[in-house]
Amino acid sequence: MSEKTLFTRIIEREIPAQIIYEDEHCIAFNDINPQAPFHALVVPRKPLPKVGDASVDDAQLLGHLLLAAGTVARNAGFGHAFRLAVNNGAEAGQTVFHLHVHVLAGRAFGWPPG
Ligand code: AMP
Repeated sequence: MSEKTLFTRIIEREIPAQIIYEDEHCIAFNDINPQAPFHALVVPRKPLPKVGDASVDDAQLLGHLLLAAGTVARNAGFGHAFRLAVNNGAEAGQTVFHLHVHVLAGRAFGWPPG
């Protein structure tokens, strides 16, 4: 058995987090180091390391994560404008290798992203 990821430990309540949404397939909690007034992470219960590791069998789960991200933004009052980000790989800024969708809102966002 491979070691549990940090986010699995949050899902299993071994590590505390401010959980703001939960369903059968995913959980969302506030980012510990927010990059915007609202910054949450939507995390599948399935510990896929990266979005690039997903297969066609995960298509429904990936769609579910986007729908959940929209719900999370809407529930927080930011349904009109939010930024989603998924970092894939260390060079792209990924630090936790359990797939997650960043939901950022509450300020203006530039393009291209840094
Ligand atoms: P990434 O760099 O895309 O892998 O994103 C990982 C995110 O997880 C970062 O934004 C971190 O601030 C966040 N993070 C790390 N540890 C925790 C934690 N214990 N609770 C909530 N967010 C965390």
